[in-house]
Amino acid sequence: MSLGIREAREALKLYFGYEQFRPMQEHIITNILQQKDVVVLMPTGGGKSVCYQVPAVVMPGLCVVVSPLIALMKDQVEALLANGIPAAYLNSSQTADEQYQIEEKSLAGQIKLLYVSPEKLLSAGFFSFLKRLQVSLFAVDEAHCISAWGHDFRPEYTQLRALKQQFPAVPVVALTATADKLTQKDIQEQLQLRQPEVFVASFDRPNINLMVLPGQNRFNKITDFLSRRHGQPGIIYCLSRKATESLAGKLRENGYNATFYHAGMSAQQRSKAQESFLRDDVLIVCATIAFGMGIDKSNVRWVIHYNLPKNVEGYYQEIGRAGRDGAKSDALLFYSFADVMNLRTMLSDNDKSQNELQLVKLERMQQFAEATFCRRRILLQYFGEQMSRDCGNCDICRNPPSRFDGTLIAQKALSAIARSQERLNMSLLVDVLRGSRNSQVMAGGYDRIKTYGAGRDIGTLDWNRYLHQMLNAGLVELAYDQNYTLKLTEQSRQVLFDGRKIELVKFEDAKQQTENLQREKPKREIIKDALFERLRALRKRLADEQNVPPYVVFTDSTLQEMAAEKPANRIAMLAISGVGAQKFERYGHSFINEIIAFLTEEQAKGSAIKGATHLVTWEAYQQGLSPEEIARRRNLNPVTIYSHLATLLEQGYDVPVHDFVSKREYEAIIEAIEQLGKDAKLKDLYEHLEERYEYFKIRLSLAMHKMQYAW
Ligand code: ADP
Ligand code: ZN
Repeated sequence: MSLGIREAREALKLYFGYEQFRPMQEHIITNILQQKDVVVLMPTGGGKSVCYQVPAVVMPGLCVVVSPLIALMKDQVEALLANGIPAAYLNSSQTADEQYQIEEKSLAGQIKLLYVSPEKLLSAGFFSFLKRLQVSLFAVDEAHCISAWGHDFRPEYTQLRALKQQFPAVPVVALTATADKLTQKDIQEQLQLRQPEVFVASFDRPNINLMVLPGQNRFNKITDFLSRRHGQPGIIYCLSRKATESLAGKLRENGYNATFYHAGMSAQQRSKAQESFLRDDVLIVCATIAFGMGIDKSNVRWVIHYNLPKNVEGYYQEIGRAGRDGAKSDALLFYSFADVMNLRTMLSDNDKSQNELQLVKLERMQQFAEATFCRRRILLQYFGEQMSRDCGNCDICRNPPSRFDGTLIAQKALSAIARSQERLNMSLLVDVLRGSRNSQVMAGGYDRIKTYGAGRDIGTLDWNRYLHQMLNAGLVELAYDQNYTLKLTEQSRQVLFDGRKIELVKFEDAKQQTENLQREKPKREIIKDALFERLRALRKRLADEQNVPPYVVFTDSTLQEMAAEKPANRIAMLAISGVGAQKFERYGHSFINEIIAFLTEEQAKGSAIKGATHLVTWEAYQQGLSPEEIARRRNLNPVTIYSHLATLLEQGYDVPVHDFVSKREYEAIIEAIEQLGKDAKLKDLYEHLEERYEYFKIRLSLAMHKMQYAW
């Protein structure tokens, strides 16, 4: 086994409460512990921080983390402190005195992770300060900022090459969520890394459910969506500042806890919105795309795109803000053709030199929205990753569209286009096909063509869907420069004149999809959700008391595991992923008590929760009731209550056995257990002891003996 990885695993469990490393984390950490330089490319939520935080804990001395975002620094340090890891940050937001204190602490060896902004790192005298410390590792976070190719170039990052020059013996780990090759090469060169190992993780975010809905009636669809996500924080991205404000207002009028965020607000207003969101005081933020860059909130449960994003890169980055904690999350995109038109108009108003590329990117986005097979495959393919199977976690996988012979439909549409001399745009074409008598139709004389009204039997929405499919398949073309009129292509002629057959995709109605989502939950799920709510409320109270965001107390996935497993003692609580020693110390008992209180109430209401009945006994016992009293109140046999106590004892609860079994009795019973073996049956022991001791005493002694034996 390689050097130190065992200690690293122990630290992961002790401080972070995680059972094991994710596959790539282990390799990365092994390399770092061997003093090698490493480049890490992992998507947001992939678990980059652990890659340097765990080595920092097990290596002697301290790890310096360079991070460009001051807000993130604060979050990270809070999270580390909550896990019992001494950490601090230095940046321009602090007074000289505060900085001095932290420097002193670092010099005294009291800090394991020191976060600094690049400006601070490069400021006069800072390197000589670092040389007085024992620096074990440099971690360069958001390392893509070093590359002029990237989307977030920061000139000061290029000076980070000084690290290797000044500290040639200290390993450097560079981390980023940007995957492209040029950036990766730049990072290695600029930081002058020595033959670094490069780790590229999959950029898939399997916990995010991908959904696209038609843009009609967005507001109703949103409230419908939200009604099934009670209490869950999320972001709605809008195209304009005004839209964020009006949507937030409308949501508030409808009783939702929503606010807005955009670049036109004052810095103070923005940080207030952000802070309330971080703390779950506000659950919904309607925002322009600027929102989310500098925040590390791990429990964003959903992201809605009110409008179609300009490109797939932006879309992916924005939905990536959901579910960083790995728990189930949703991304819902509204798609309407009108959005595409708007974006195209916006693009053509912009810088002409970039136009062609931007238009191509928009088309790819549109193709994603109109996909007829697994959306995740399309996304990953876009980023150069192949997926060998459908994902099972997108609307298409869940609800595969059925195909049918659409030749007749296609012929009607194409014929109407031909007969109107290719002068119709999409909505006018639908009007003509459906036999509308609106002024445009009448003015153009389109009511006189042969196919007028030939498609009455098909609804407007469906006509739009079919026409988009035809567009994507190249059966018609859109003349962007001629008022978006539809033109025939070589392929249309094959359909019209050569009898070519066409398949179209029939989607289930959005309404039906919603209904599918509303199927009744099993009782077990309902109870789990109710407990989760209770735990979330407790988390919020504790977080407010300590003035930290709720996810710093525990992540959503940790709370979900608690709600499912219902850990009601120390051992079970420590087995929950995300509960480390420090967090157990600080919060463990509050959560255990909440779980027990919940189970007691449920039991009183008559819900039979598996494994909970003995906890109800425990609750009553702790209130000072005797086993006999408990039995009477719960309408159970006292023997049952004693057996609960024995179970509790075996689970590590502090049951005072000697209140029920005298020392002398206990010794006699133990002797019998040792003679017959610890797996002996109660009945055999009872008989072996010549029926002198009651069953419950033997049961309790057995449990006690088992516990001592186990320790
Ligand atoms: P990134 O910095 O790559 O966006 P984080 O380091 O914030 O990702 O990790 C994302 C989430 O995954 C966090 O909630 C983190 O605690 C959790 N996590 C990281 N490593 C593990 C692990 N080995 N086991 C379980 N959860 C993990
Ligand atoms: Zn899929």
